[in-house]
Amino acid sequence: MAIQSVNPATGAVVRTFDALNGDEIEQRLALASATAAVYRRTTFAERAALLRRAADILDAERHEIAVTMTTEMGKTLRSAEAEAAKCAKGMRFYAEHAAAFLADETLADPGSVGASRAFGRYQPLGVVLAVMPWNFPLWQVVRFAAPALMAGNVGLLKHASNVPQCALYLEDLFRRAGFPEGAFQTLLIGAGQVEAVLRDPRVAAATVTGSEPAGQAVASVCGQEIKKTVLELGGSDPFVVMPSADVARAAEVAVTARCQNNGQSCIAAKRFIVHEDVYEQFAELFVAGMAALKVGDPMDPSTDIGPLATEGGRLDIEELLADAVKEGASILCGGTAPSGPGYFFPPTVVGDVTPAMRLHLEEAFGPLATLYRVPDIDAAIELANVTSFGLGSNAWTTDPAEQERFISDLVAGAVFLNGMVSSHPELPFGGVRRSGYGRELSAVGIREFCNLKTVWAG
Ligand code: NDP
Repeated sequence: MAIQSVNPATGAVVRTFDALNGDEIEQRLALASATAAVYRRTTFAERAALLRRAADILDAERHEIAVTMTTEMGKTLRSAEAEAAKCAKGMRFYAEHAAAFLADETLADPGSVGASRAFGRYQPLGVVLAVMPWNFPLWQVVRFAAPALMAGNVGLLKHASNVPQCALYLEDLFRRAGFPEGAFQTLLIGAGQVEAVLRDPRVAAATVTGSEPAGQAVASVCGQEIKKTVLELGGSDPFVVMPSADVARAAEVAVTARCQNNGQSCIAAKRFIVHEDVYEQFAELFVAGMAALKVGDPMDPSTDIGPLATEGGRLDIEELLADAVKEGASILCGGTAPSGPGYFFPPTVVGDVTPAMRLHLEEAFGPLATLYRVPDIDAAIELANVTSFGLGSNAWTTDPAEQERFISDLVAGAVFLNGMVSSHPELPFGGVRRSGYGRELSAVGIREFCNLKTVWAG
């Protein structure tokens, strides 16, 4: 795949880049390794000052970088600006809290282990490679970079090949903020060049956000090399609505939960599982809400949904839908891509879904929702857990006993009650099963790429 910016709203090639050659990769690895040896000795206060400066620059440049994001991957300009703002917030969060998150863990009674003092100390692992996707081209990276840099690690970014300008911007941003040369570098390389980087002894660990195949490829190499990985892969989050819920509010949020980021979010709600007592009411409101969204130019402030990021992404959605229709699904709204340039696809709701359809188990990475009717909470939970994923989950009920059931029995890294799954610097983020392992964000996320060194002193 070429490293290329293609505007998905028009199909026009904006810029093309050459992938780094072996010598260029070597130079960057050497620089990363040399920087890691020095950077690990900086204080939390020094790192925090740099990260706050990065946040300030990003705030000042929010509009310009949002235009680049929208041009490269099609999200609406409004949501691109919100993403940039969220990145600045995430940076400030880690600037403020990293020292406390990584404070020594002191054993209150060292005598119990025969020591005069005993504690755990979090130390950086060194150079960490981040393999990142295009869907939140800034946030996915900052979610890794802010805690990594605060922990004293050094970052290498292999970004998705369709967002090279965002990738280069991030490298430049950290450099201008004053981080040492080599603390955060972008490697413009294709997926096929990742293995050699992972096998390099100067690289200590890797994090992947993306598809299952990408996660498998990186984790298997890292398995052979005994290197730590964090994987944040796909999801097909359920959105369950029970009779006690505020159905109108649930339907309104459901539209946003499915269509955020033009439907291309790992934590988008994708399967809508509705109790039969409120099914008709929810279905009517949800379908009407989906059909009312305005699809069009992502630069236009009145647009709700821009194009899908790539032609291949739209083809995937069309194939999933065609397979479902062949097997007897009904299309309740949308369903047909408009003619003309750009990779647009309308918000689409599918009913009468059966296990024979690929859409029943596979992730739809676009504004395509499945709607199910269930008789009770047992059936809802069974259906919610039917896929091999386990990222987020949404459940709408005001019944405390039902809420406990969902918290207990939904197989997922997160359960959001009466709201939609979203990520926050304050909360752990990640999945189980084929959605991956490890956690990002919060105190847990910053510790993933640390060596918790046990210190025992006699
Ligand atoms: P990919 O997983 O292919 O891309 C994500 C990143 O992984 C990119 O940087 C990509 O590089 C890299 N990559 C891909 N294959 C390998 C490999 N074998 N070894 C090393 N790195 C690799 O996602 P796609 O863009 O193809 O999207 C396809 C699907 O991925 C979606 O339908 C969705 O299911 C899932 N996805 C999930 C995301 C999430 O947030 N969890 C985000 C994006 C996608 P390159 O671009 O050069 O191929």
